Amino acid sequence: MIDEQRLVACFLELVRIDSPSRHEQAIGDRLAQMLRALGARVERDAIGNVFGQLDGQGEALLLNAHMDTVVPGEGVQPVREGGLIRSDGRTVLGGDDKSGVAIVLEVVRAAQAQGIALPPLDIVFSVQEEVGLAGAKAVDMTRLRARQGIGLDAGGPVGTAVVSAPSHDRLEADIHGVAAHAGGEPEKGVSAIEVAADAICHMPLGRIDEETTANIGIISGGQATNIVCDRVELSGEARSHSAAKLATQVQAMVAALEQAAARRGVSVDVGVSHEYTAYSLRPDDPLLGLLAAGAAEVGIEPAFGPTGGGSDANVFNAAGIRVTNISTGMDRVHTTSEQIAVADMVRAAEWLLACLRLRAQGRA
Ligand SMILES: [Zn+2]
Repeated sequence: MIDEQRLVACFLELVRIDSPSRHEQAIGDRLAQMLRALGARVERDAIGNVFGQLDGQGEALLLNAHMDTVVPGEGVQPVREGGLIRSDGRTVLGGDDKSGVAIVLEVVRAAQAQGIALPPLDIVFSVQEEVGLAGAKAVDMTRLRARQGIGLDAGGPVGTAVVSAPSHDRLEADIHGVAAHAGGEPEKGVSAIEVAADAICHMPLGRIDEETTANIGIISGGQATNIVCDRVELSGEARSHSAAKLATQVQAMVAALEQAAARRGVSVDVGVSHEYTAYSLRPDDPLLGLLAAGAAEVGIEPAFGPTGGGSDANVFNAAGIRVTNISTGMDRVHTTSEQIAVADMVRAAEWLLACLRLRAQGRA
């Protein structure tokens, strides 16, 4: 049903088109062209998302994958070795998420070539997923007919579907100390480094509980050993599957910073930004029924589980469109040893095609 050669050829073409986040014009042009060739009505929005609509039978479904890649991702030279495709080791492969894009295109091509009915499809190939989900956040959700969707932006064994993801807040702190000559009159200074250390020691960090994590990931400050440091910047984050726990955690981090600054009579500016919102699909959600039925058709063992990361699916779910991400087989993503097994990509495509066929037939 799935044409492995056509799928691989499409994937290899896509990974050779440079598309680091915010530089997706060329790949977006190509994807729009490919979707038009499949008969889709295609639009580009201001940020660069490519949106294709196809008519079909039954209830509409959203299909989503992102076209941007992380660095180092320019000049990708894919290497095919046996059943694996990897980069040449200088760059990522870009299987995250061009494997998802290629699978969506192949499934529509395969269905059209074989006269398999599909449901009405809203296809969103997004930009800037890797930089704060900016592309998905810019999607005009009123354009979408679908109230449910499948994202192709997960790893793990084929059959993996992500049914819950955390909320994520970002925290930026700017600690203002007082500079002084460290040898001459250190008592006139207040070290922002000491304030930062005090604050971090009083912060709950790491794994807070099974739903919640927190981290200070960047710290910078100081100019010379003979100056009492007057400024330190900290960047951190907290994530939780529970909105209430996330709020409590972020408050604890902010309080640790404010109290440490107060103990030394200096100030701290703290900014908190909400990156994305948690979602969780109920076990009896019809979307999971569709994925299970499709998996059974093609002999795949479905595995529904949580993720600790965010994706475009968080944005669609927050907008009321229930979306779960399924594995494309992508492996070791965000590293230069990224790879994907051709057989996994084919299996994932077979799974998706089975789901779409069942949906068009009104059987799931
Ligand atoms: Zn991705």
